[in-house]
Amino acid sequence: MRIGVLALQGDFHEHIAVLRRLGVEAVEVRLPDQLETLAGIIIPGGESTTIGKLAVDFQLMEPLRQFGKQKAIWGTCAGAIFLSKDAHRQQPLLGLMDIKVERNAFGRQVESFEVDLDVPALKTVSPEDAPFHAVFIRAPLISSVGSSVDVLAKLENGKIVAAQQGKLLVTSFHPELTTDDRFHRYFLRLAGAKE
Ligand code: GLN
Repeated sequence: MRIGVLALQGDFHEHIAVLRRLGVEAVEVRLPDQLETLAGIIIPGGESTTIGKLAVDFQLMEPLRQFGKQKAIWGTCAGAIFLSKDAHRQQPLLGLMDIKVERNAFGRQVESFEVDLDVPALKTVSPEDAPFHAVFIRAPLISSVGSSVDVLAKLENGKIVAAQQGKLLVTSFHPELTTDDRFHRYFLRLAGAKE
């Protein structure tokens, strides 16, 4: 099975590297046709307005929406914003997930930080009960979720930073920038691909 990484802008190389390390066939996706053979696609971190504008230019909006109705999509950081239905400003969004996000939610003082998160759902891919070391870079918060969305992780202050709706997954942070591949393996399970 093949997993794609949307390669319009952002840190797609890092996701490809983790997937290949896990023995998965990983491909950079820029054209609608390339979606056809994929079991799932990752939308990387970067700049969500830029990713959205390029997705419009590359005629990927509708194909990605159709893809997400049946198959697995994981958005990290900017990718999470792009999957949402509302980012509180005008920019192209897929609107696939019933979540609202707040961009650059941590302000200038704490644009980037790292924190250990409790993510109970990861026990399904690894018996190891260690917290997940999460890297946040000018990250969004998930400010509200609909009733069909499961919250996977929160900060200590209760703010939501990871969520799932069926085969759709979002994280405000960047698992591809660490050596902990549990979120990637969790996504592969959603996609139905072999680990
Ligand atoms: N701040 C970026 C945005 O709003 C996201 C940052 C990231 O992906 N690391 O699109």
